[in-house]
Parts: sequence; C-alpha cells; structure tokens
Amino acid sequence: MEQLDIKSQTLSELKKTVEDLSEKPFRAKQIYEWIHKKQADSFGEMTNLSVSLREKLERKASLVSLKVLDVQTSRLDGTQKYLFALPDGNMVESVLMKYHHGNSVCISSQVGCRMGCRFCASAIGGWTRNLRPSEMLDQVYKIQKLSKERVSNVVVMGTGEPLDNYDSLVRFIRMLSDEKGLHISQRNITVSTCGIVPRIYELADEDLQITLAISLHASTQEKREKLMPIAKKYSIDEVLSACRYYFQKTGRRLTFEYSLVGGENDSQEDAEELARLIKGLNCHVNLIPVNPIKERNYVQSDKKVIENFQNKLEKYQINVTIRREMGRDIDGACGQLRKRYLDKREDS
Ligand code: SAH
Repeated sequence: MEQLDIKSQTLSELKKTVEDLSEKPFRAKQIYEWIHKKQADSFGEMTNLSVSLREKLERKASLVSLKVLDVQTSRLDGTQKYLFALPDGNMVESVLMKYHHGNSVCISSQVGCRMGCRFCASAIGGWTRNLRPSEMLDQVYKIQKLSKERVSNVVVMGTGEPLDNYDSLVRFIRMLSDEKGLHISQRNITVSTCGIVPRIYELADEDLQITLAISLHASTQEKREKLMPIAKKYSIDEVLSACRYYFQKTGRRLTFEYSLVGGENDSQEDAEELARLIKGLNCHVNLIPVNPIKERNYVQSDKKVIENFQNKLEKYQINVTIRREMGRDIDGACGQLRKRYLDKREDS
C-alpha cells in the first residue's frame, strides 16, 4: 500500500488521519506545525509527540523531503540555483533571488513540460509528471532552511505549466499562505501561465489574492502560434477575455510577460500592436530579453531595440519593466541546470 503523503494534507485532512490512528485531534495541529511552520524533515524531530505516535506515523505516512543535488551561487548577484531530487529520483530546479524588497523563490510545478514553447529549455525533454503539493512546498521550505534567508515572495515560474497541474497548484497556494504554515501572503505569490483559458476562469473564482502573469510573447495570433503551440488551442482574444474576467473577479492587476526574441516579435509595430491589444486592462508588462538556448537559433534583441520597445509602450501609458537578468553566470534560463544533468546522465 502506498504511504500517505502527509505533507500534502490540509489541517482538516490531517485531523482525519490522526483520528484514524486513534489519537487525540489536537495532535493534528502539532504535526501540521512541525511540517509547515518548523519545516521538520523527519517524524523523529517531532519531540512533543509520543514515541508511539511517531512510530505509527513512520509506518503509515511519508514525509516528502527533497534532496539537494547541486547549488550554484552567482558571483554577480547572489542568485542561487538549486537542483533537487524528488523521492522517485526525478529532478527539478528552483531559484532563490535576492532583491531589496525581500527574497523571492521561483519553483517548478511539473517534471518537464508539455506546452512546447519554442524558446524554452524545459520544453525540450517533454513532460514526465505533475508535482505533488508537498513537492512544491518543499522547494520553498528547503531553500529557506538551507539559505537561512526568510522567503517573502514565491513565483511559480520554473519548469512546468502550473495550470496544467491545477488542483495541486491551488492546494499549494492555500497551504503556503496558511497562517499555521510558512504564511506567505497571497499577494506575494505569482503564478505564470502560457494561457490555459478555462483554468484562468476557474482560478479567478477561487477567491485568491495572487498575481497572475500571462506569457503573451506576441501581439498577433499568427506570431504567437509560431512561438507557442498552446496558442493554436486558445486564441489571443480568448486569453485576453479571460484576463479581463480575472481582473473583474479578483481586482488584482495582471502581468504580461513578453520575451523579446530578436527579429521575431521586437519591432515597433509589434509594440504598437501590443499596446492596442491590452489597452484599458489594469496591467503591467514585463519584458524579458530571450535567454538563448543552444537547441534553437533565437537571439536576443539589441539593447537599443529593447529600449525602443519599452518607450513605445510607455507612450501609450503602459506600465513596463525590463526583467533584470539574474544569475547569468549559473545556467540562467529555466530548465538549463536540470537539462545539463540529464544530458550528462545520458552520456555516461
Ligand atoms: N509555464 C509557465 C511558466 C514558464 S517559465 C508559463 O508559460 O508562463 C516563466 C516565463 O519565462 C514564461 O513567460 C516563459 O515563456 C519564459 N521563458 C521560458 N524560457 C525562456 C527563455 N529561454 N528566454 C526568455 N523567457 C523564457
């Protein structure tokens, strides 16, 4: 029989588990705090539980705990990249970025990805499986523990499409922001999606206060389809209608991510078209100079082209920032560290 994934259980589910073990209900709160507030890695650490309860937990449940395979630290800005092994041996990567306003962790939501965006390193090996809520939580817990830095922001922008692992994502958000756990404010949690329209509507109705970031990357249907296969399933107009609904329901300003790919989507006309497209929406545009991967010949836009793109959007009173490139010296782009390990494994 498969062991219970106790780190993915909400407090009310844990109460039921404790009851099934013929223990008193208040034990559930103690265990929950050990797992989510103190980030215990073993039942043995839970010293205010009786030895017999700890033994029962050991038999019935597993406490998902990721193993660190590699940590790279940028000499340029202190950004840290973590490569973790999941309990089944699969690997995911996460990043710790230090900003003036606090520390931000970028987590993965799936092993691999099946969305196939052309410029993305995570798309190349395809999709293996979804992560469990416990495996998403533990990326944050482990980084906070190992770096001894308080994590204040979490972005779901690593490998994987979070809305393709919807139920686990929503559970992860609720548990991460739970006051009995790490208690990260939902306002400091961002979920980035390539635009799975029905799930955007569903997320809008969840009564969460998170920021939704949409990977737009193009301002016409035709160009978007060239870069992102998912665009063939959900049109740019459908994505924007879903965004309007999201804002209406949550009052949360949206972010549009736009990776600038030299000669593909970075012209002045592209900028103008983008401005027209998102006009009237309460949003912010994040321009990301594409991080070239060796499997494709995409190149970064010239600095001047990027600036002109930004200026054009600003002329239309659109809020724009250019994403600061963090950790350029440490397998910067999403999925590159993991990919390097997988390639090495295949070679040997
Ligand atoms: N599946 C989610 C999260 C992906 S990663 C999504 O699609 O939004 C976060 C962002 O980085 C996305 O906007 C993604 O399109 C972008 N991205 C991925 N690889 C990139 C690269 N090599 N250069 C620039 N941006 C990239």
